[in-house]
Amino acid sequence: MNTLTFPILKLLADGKFHSGEAIAHHFNVSRASVWNALQHAEQLGVEVFSVRGRGYKLPHALTFLEEQTVLNALKALGHTFKLEIHDHIESTNTYLMRKANGESNHATCVAANLQTQGRGRRGRTWQAGLGASLTFSLLWRFQCGAATLSGLSLAIGVALIRALHTLGIQQAQLKWPNDILINREKLAGILIEVQGDMDGPSTAVIGIGINLRLPDYIKKQIEQPATDLASVSAQPIDPNILLSTLLVQLAIVLKEFEQNGLMNLSDEWTKHHAYHLQQVRMLMPDGREIHGIVQGITEDGTLLVETETGLQKFISGEISLRGT
Ligand code: ATP
Repeated sequence: MNTLTFPILKLLADGKFHSGEAIAHHFNVSRASVWNALQHAEQLGVEVFSVRGRGYKLPHALTFLEEQTVLNALKALGHTFKLEIHDHIESTNTYLMRKANGESNHATCVAANLQTQGRGRRGRTWQAGLGASLTFSLLWRFQCGAATLSGLSLAIGVALIRALHTLGIQQAQLKWPNDILINREKLAGILIEVQGDMDGPSTAVIGIGINLRLPDYIKKQIEQPATDLASVSAQPIDPNILLSTLLVQLAIVLKEFEQNGLMNLSDEWTKHHAYHLQQVRMLMPDGREIHGIVQGITEDGTLLVETETGLQKFISGEISLRGT
């Protein structure tokens, strides 16, 4: 790890050109050290323009996550969370899962300015980049066992929708079991990993990735239609405000879920489901496709679909929903 890389990237966050000489002077290092640090940024997948005679610049201005800014925005709720912000991490979920069996406090939130090996379900990849997305994970300890957490990803979806609507992103909708869409393009994903006994106390690591501004080279690596907040919001959304708004809603929804499961959340979930009463294809783990019309969800998060053979139940985990 080159310790100069992120300080330089933060200097370049204004999106303007900075000469190698000015950067070197600012950090009291040689121009070669600046070059090395920015080479390291490129190895991490960060695009840095370098123009002879003008210096270095990022493709766009961007806002970094800063612990104090998030805590200020959280106000009194700041005490609820143990916040860790990393400049670079491979995967916030992997990091927290390693600490889930004791080391990390309840309500630890780990966020990263750059996540380079984000994961989705079943070994899939979550694509992210510096300034491209907000990526974070929240560790939550439940008294109840893992068996009762099957609806958790739907509850988290409700929290995300509430937060996005609060920030004026009214178009945000849900896709069973765990995606956020805008105009049927994927804006955000949720990955929940659980540790603990089926009926004893359990720990969930709730990973969330929300696209802020996806550059084309990242979009091309995603094998389904994807979108970002920059495409739908007139004002740029500050990731610090996005994170704090999400944490506020997550705290409310997780408390509700701990007490009543999805009981008081399922109507709200259904109201925002992009495919409610719509024709869908269910992609099964064995490669089969089942067609039908979505009827709703049960209180453990199971999806109900009316098919030609009658009403069928789909339990999340291995199944993907697609529109027709
Ligand atoms: P589905 O239910 O649609 O099959 P999923 O919920 O299983 O998807 P996840 O595991 O949540 O998918 O996320 C991984 C998938 O999301 C990847 O396979 C890719 O298609 C898509 N993806 C990866 N990165 C992004 C991103 N930044 N924005 C939108 N979609 C992404």
